Amino acid sequence: MSECLFCNIVEKKIPAKIVYEDDHALAFDDINPQAPVHALVIPKKHIAAVRECNAQDQGLLGQLLFACVKVANQKGLAESGYRMVANTGRDAGQTVSHLHFHVMGGRHMAWPPG
Ligand code: 5GP
Ligand code: ZN
Repeated sequence: MSECLFCNIVEKKIPAKIVYEDDHALAFDDINPQAPVHALVIPKKHIAAVRECNAQDQGLLGQLLFACVKVANQKGLAESGYRMVANTGRDAGQTVSHLHFHVMGGRHMAWPPG
C-alpha cells in the first residue's frame, strides 16, 4: 500500500466509484459529496498539490482540466453549469495531499466560497 490515499485508489488497492479514466487521469465520485454531483479528477502520477507542479507538468494540467470537462459533460452538467476547484494548502483546506480537482454541480453554488 502507498502512503498516499489517492495513489492507492489509482492502483485500485482502495475501491472508488470510478467515473472516468485515461492514460494520465482518473476521476471518481467523492466519498462525502457536497453537491448532487461531486467528483474528483486526479493525475495518476503523484503530485502533492498544484503548487508542486513544474513546467514539465503543464501538459498534464491541461489534460486534467479537460478531463474535468469530460466528467461534467458525462454527468449532465454542461448546460446547468458546474464548479471546478483545486484546494491547495492549509488556507484552502486541502486535506488529501495528492492533486485533485473537485467537479461539483447539480445545485446553485454561492460565491465567494466560505
Ligand atoms: P480536499 O479537502 O483535499 O480539497 O478534498 C479531499 C476530498 O477527498 C474530500 O472532498 C473528501 O470527501 C474526499 N475523500 C477523502 N477520502 C476519500 C476516499 O477514501 N474516497 C473518496 N472517493 N473520496 C475521499
Ligand atoms: Zn498520491
